Order: sequence, then structure tokens, then C-alpha cells
Amino acid sequence: MMTGRILRVAIFAVCAFSLLAAQDNPIAIVIHGGAGTILRENMPPEREKEYRAKLEEALNAGYAVLKQGGTSLDAVEAAIHIMEDSPLFNAGKGAVFTSEGTNELDAAIMDGATLNAGAVAGLKRIKSPITLARWVMEKSPHVMMIGDGAEQFAKEQGMEFVDPSYFKTEQRWNQWMRMKEREKQQQSQPAKQDSKPQGFNDAGMDDHKFGTVGCVALDKNGNIAAGTSTGGTSNKKYGRVGDVPIIGGGTYANNKTCGVSCTGTGEYFIRSVVAHDVSALMEYEGMSLKDAANLVVMDKLVKMNGDGGLIALDAKGNIVMPFNTSGMYRGYIDVNGKMEIGIYKE
Ligand code: ASP
Repeated sequence: MMTGRILRVAIFAVCAFSLLAAQDNPIAIVIHGGAGTILRENMPPEREKEYRAKLEEALNAGYAVLKQGGTSLDAVEAAIHIMEDSPLFNAGKGAVFTSEGTNELDAAIMDGATLNAGAVAGLKRIKSPITLARWVMEKSPHVMMIGDGAEQFAKEQGMEFVDPSYFKTEQRWNQWMRMKEREKQQQSQPAKQDSKPQGFNDAGMDDHKFGTVGCVALDKNGNIAAGTSTGGTSNKKYGRVGDVPIIGGGTYANNKTCGVSCTGTGEYFIRSVVAHDVSALMEYEGMSLKDAANLVVMDKLVKMNGDGGLIALDAKGNIVMPFNTSGMYRGYIDVNGKMEIGIYKE
């Protein structure tokens, strides 16, 4: 009788404790699928549905990891895998083409608990660049590996390789052909660092079509991770590397402040050290996540002509998704389990 009561009290205490613990440790996840000229009037409803469904699938994949008590790193990787494997986004399958008609992929991941990071650039045969970035972080003494060397490392570690043709999609190929055509027509001026990448036409519409993917997650242990994966910018020159694999440029995470994943014209994001800037404003100026992210995206970048946006979350699970373009594929599941998906400015 007595033991029964003790048992019931003990069970009650354990339940109450777990409930409290669960409340103390919020989980949240935010993703993007690229920013750019994304206008409602140009978007066929079927296409919009596909984007929304894929963003939802990616969010659910990452959130499931967090809900089961998994790490933010695993959640980031899981969400990004879904988008890398989808031809809708400019990452993994569906990556944009370089000026040579090839695909060269960049990715990075960062662990906000340890400040460890892994990055890869210029990959041609790796199905999931985000996983290789993680392997660089966890299985090598380095932070960044590029090109043939990175692929050699991947081979030694037993990573899945694909034929370069795997990344090709009809839509990206046609987009690239149009850019090539325009390039021929315009007597090309030598490109300056502060000029838009080729592909932007006068009306500001771009065939450059962003589509980079990224994810930031907060796990039940209060650890933040951020990851980003991309094919870069369309028609980029041989060997060009964007902001995505530059730690502090397009990707950053620090449990003390926030996790950030960026999308936009990488050259501007590198020169503004965007992702670290948001974190530094929080750390040194005591700014809120919202103020810091808005200052960098809507003021600093805009003044430089840098187009794009970012997703970020802090240790409390506050989420921001500012962008200075007409649209950004994006979504989150917040600390209350509420899901939101957006595409346009709205
Ligand atoms: N930031 C990427 C890069 O410059 C492109 C993008 O986000 O669309 O490589």
C-alpha cells in the first residue's frame, strides 16, 4: 500500500520534472530556400504549392530530430538534405551552372556550442555537400576544404559520390543558356566588384535566381547550429566561391548569441561579414536578434547594394527572417510548435 503510494508520488515527480525541463528547453527551427526576385504575379500556383510542400517537408524533417531529443546539428543536416535533394533549390540537385556549364557546390555547418565549423567549396561530385561540410568539422583537423582535395577526403571517408550529370536540371540549364545568350549580346564590360553578377537585366529581374538553402536550429540542450548549402551564383566564373562556406560570412553559430544562415549575392555578404556581424552586434552592443539582423540586412547591406536575406534564431528561440529582395523562400517552427511558411514580402 505504502510502496504503491511512494511509487505514484515518484512517477508524478518524474513527470512534473520532465514537463518543467521540457518547458525550460525550447526547441525551434528556421529554414530558407533562397532570396531574390520572387514575385507572386510570376509564380504559377502549382509551382508555389511545390515550394510550400518542400519547405514544410524540410521543416518537419528537422523538427522531428529536435522533438526526439536529437542535436541541432542533426536537425540542420536533416532539413538541408531534403532541400539539397530537391530540384527546386539551388543546392545539390538543381544547382545553377558555372560559366563553364558545370556545377560547383559550396556548403558550411557550424556548432554554436563549441564554435567548431566545417566548410567545403567547389565540389563537383558530392551528392550532399552539407554532410561533407560536417565531416570536415568532425573527421578532420581542418575547417575548410575545397575542390579535388575535399573530394579526395570524401572518398577516403566513404562518402556517396554521384556523376556530375546528377545535378543538372532542364530548368537551370535553360536559365544558363539564356544568360549565355545575353552575355554574347552585351559587349561585356570587365566586371567590377561592386557590380551585380551577370544575369541581372535592366528591369532588375534576375536569371541569377537564388535558391541557396539554409537552416538554423535550437535543440533541447540549448545548442544552436547553422548550416547553408548552395550551387553559388549562376554563370559564376571558374573557382568562384561565395559567402556560404565562409564562416562568419554566410554561415555562423554561437550559443552565446545566435545562429545565422544567409542567402543573396555572396560577394556583398563576404565583404560585410554578415553572419558574424549579426552575432557581434548582439555580443558587443547588446542588441536583440531582431535589431541586429535588421540593421545588417535592411540598412548596411542595402547601402552597399547587397541583395538577399538571412534566417537566424537565438538561444531563447526567437526567430527572424529579414530580406531586402522581393521574396525569400522561408519557414519556421517556433518554440510553441507553430509552423509558418512564406515566400513573398507579404
Ligand atoms: N549566397 C550564395 C552565393 O553567393 C548565392 C545565394 O544565396 O543565392 O554563392
